[in-house]
Amino acid sequence: MLGRYDATIDDVAGLLQGEPDYRVRQLWEGLYHQARFPAEMTDLPLDLRARVEAALPMMLTEVSRVTADGGDTVKWLWSLSDGAAVETVLMCYPDRVTVCVSTQAGCAMACGFCATGQAGFRRNLRTGEIVEQVIAAIREARPRRVSNVVFMGMGEPLANYDRTWGAVQRLHTDVGISARHLTLSTVGIVPGILRLTGESLPVNLAVSLHAANDALRDSLVPMNRRYPLDMLVEACGSYVATSGRRLSFEWALIDGVNDHDSDVEELAGLARPLSAHVNVIPLNPTRGYEYPGSPRRRVREFREALEARGVKATVRVTRGSDIDAACGQLAGAAFPVAPGSPAPGSPAPGSPAPLVSPSAGPTGQKRTSAVKLGIQDRGRA
Ligand code: SAH
Repeated sequence: MLGRYDATIDDVAGLLQGEPDYRVRQLWEGLYHQARFPAEMTDLPLDLRARVEAALPMMLTEVSRVTADGGDTVKWLWSLSDGAAVETVLMCYPDRVTVCVSTQAGCAMACGFCATGQAGFRRNLRTGEIVEQVIAAIREARPRRVSNVVFMGMGEPLANYDRTWGAVQRLHTDVGISARHLTLSTVGIVPGILRLTGESLPVNLAVSLHAANDALRDSLVPMNRRYPLDMLVEACGSYVATSGRRLSFEWALIDGVNDHDSDVEELAGLARPLSAHVNVIPLNPTRGYEYPGSPRRRVREFREALEARGVKATVRVTRGSDIDAACGQLAGAAFPVAPGSPAPGSPAPGSPAPLVSPSAGPTGQKRTSAVKLGIQDRGRA
């Protein structure tokens, strides 16, 4: 079945055969620009509305939603047509409205401190499943407008490159959220970053650095074993040069692990030449990771020490932590574990992370017992 937001404009034209030509544009704009359900498109004939509703079903079924921060943060748990589960978070701030979307059900990157990484990978989302999360958020946020979309929910956007990029194009061109308000966040899949340099839409790039030497980064972000820092930094430099967009580094501060003075020094050494902005995130606790986040005072000192070395840094405002909607914390529906599937958790010591090539479909699919994801928006502390 073709999902509503997977259908191309040609699919829509096929569906509207026999109708006047202008109906195609009308419907397309209703779906995307106005984020309306066909049933709400009172400018379409009644029978046509019903036909479109039936022919182009929504792919996300709301399982639950929770709100926090006095209603300013909304977290959804969705079930997809095959039972996979993903989550989306809407965050309303005084000056902007941000939606954080998932690009995969689960994640194969296996970062030990991230609840999604602990749970493992299930499958890539389709373009329409990513776009639909934004449409739901747009409808919920009314009368406010969604201004920003961050691809920082469950999954690794650059390991699901084509579908993620398809969503970027739809959001920019059809929904009308400019590329400069879209941010892709990656563990650092170098071929994916290099592919981005060839795209015509300049999105913001966030790289989840968390460590600025290979030994430490190998242990925190297993994908570093495949794409070590020198390769990653070079790719980031190319992206900044060709896109003209700001690069940011994400740094989840872990007590006694990556919050030393030497970490500040190393991080500043990487960030300064790239004019990268650093987002310091106090690590949010997750069940599968034993180390705590750095104390608040250390978070502040870390940021100040970066600034003193000429690196712009902000501490992310935590949103939704009371509903487990903060980075790395969201716990989705429990999946039944398929017989014989590997237990959720980090890969065996020394083994590389499960790898997914940027343009390939899902590899090494496994079912996992729980899906969790981490989400947050950036803001000043
Ligand atoms: N796979 C992508 C996007 C999803 S994670 C990526 O890694 O960038 C979004 C951000 O949340 C990443 O920077 C990730 O490292 C961070 N994160 C994950 N778990 C976290 C936790 N427990 N506390 C704080 N940040 C976390």
